[in-house]
Amino acid sequence: MRRTIVAGNWKMNTTPAQGVELLEGVAAIKGEAKASVELIVGVPFTHICAVGKAAQGTGIAIAAQNCADHAKGAYTGEVSAEMLASMGVEYVILGHSERREYYGETSETLNKKIELVYQNGMSPIYCIGEKQQEREANRQNEVCRAQIQEVVFNLTPEQFEKLIIAYEPVWAIGTGLTATDDQAQEIHHYIRQVLAEKFGEQAASKCPILYGGSCKPSNAKGLFEKADVDGGLIGGASLNAQDFVGIAKAF
Ligand code: 13P
Repeated sequence: MRRTIVAGNWKMNTTPAQGVELLEGVAAIKGEAKASVELIVGVPFTHICAVGKAAQGTGIAIAAQNCADHAKGAYTGEVSAEMLASMGVEYVILGHSERREYYGETSETLNKKIELVYQNGMSPIYCIGEKQQEREANRQNEVCRAQIQEVVFNLTPEQFEKLIIAYEPVWAIGTGLTATDDQAQEIHHYIRQVLAEKFGEQAASKCPILYGGSCKPSNAKGLFEKADVDGGLIGGASLNAQDFVGIAKAF
């Protein structure tokens, strides 16, 4: 049995007070979803203290949305993996397409960040996915393969066991366009095959692969019913407690 996970990516939204309110809203109704569905919220750095405190005892885990590619030192404005771990953060979202696109995130920096995340006892949620032109040219498999080979293939088997992958087609993020259930299944299955080439069938069969991109309560069920879709990484809909838990209830 694979883990089932619904993770929110709040991106650059909410104040800390609004974040606490949102977390409390999720905690209040999370019992409506199966207890086996793991809930994670990816919050801005500034919210980790307050939202982390509000999450204590709720079973909701905290993720950060990025970390520095150096352990410590003269890197003004950066936040290290060690700092995050010391605040109780369990997961770090890395390689999100917005960071690749707007902040020049490359496989080289991602390799450093992922290593630091593991060194500090946390787990990465590693995002991959093709852009619209790449999908139109039917290059989605090639793009996802490269994003996996350049980063995930550098992990040890022990590190791989803790990895969560999020497949997020860039054309579906915040656009209202969702991959169809079959499109999601097809590429999730392909991703798992690529992982199996390096880590073996058994280890690959245990890796949670989440879908991200305009996922909402109305389309989550069809996606999550697919054999290789193990949950979602949710942007917009994670900013509303009813919608976020509504997605978790799709399992
Ligand atoms: P939306 O759910 O808003 O499309 O965002 C998806 C996403 O980027 C999650 O990381």
